[in-house]
Amino acid sequence: MDVSTLLADPSAISLETFVSKQNLIIVRVRSVQKAVCCPLCNEHSISLHSRYVRQVADLPWHGVAIRLQLQTRKFRCRNELCRRRVFCERLPQVVRSYARQTVRLNSALTLTGFRTGRRGRRKNGFRSQFNDQRRHPFTPDSR
Ligand SMILES: [Zn+2]
Repeated sequence: MDVSTLLADPSAISLETFVSKQNLIIVRVRSVQKAVCCPLCNEHSISLHSRYVRQVADLPWHGVAIRLQLQTRKFRCRNELCRRRVFCERLPQVVRSYARQTVRLNSALTLTGFRTGRRGRRKNGFRSQFNDQRRHPFTPDSR
């Protein structure tokens, strides 16, 4: 199975399992990065501190919401000159720090916003059916 289309960054995360619920698929993945660097001093670390699970929204699959349960790790920074003692590993191709959705979902939503926003519709010569219905909300669609 080719997971490159399923996972945001197969070099950084590995698929563990799926859990299917009504209108929701939970995809459990874990980080498999080899090299982890402190975000403050950029010192390489292999000193594992702990693990935790992040939950973020990912691109929907055929209209079904996807929740990514990402098991990620915290490491100790061994650089004595660094202020940061413990840091979370970064997965910049998957999810940004403190984000609630994956990078690719954020990109898709941003692109959709630009294309369907007022300027995007004008630029593309696109007249929205939604706008026509908003002007006459109780008129049945005659098309
Ligand atoms: Zn550090």
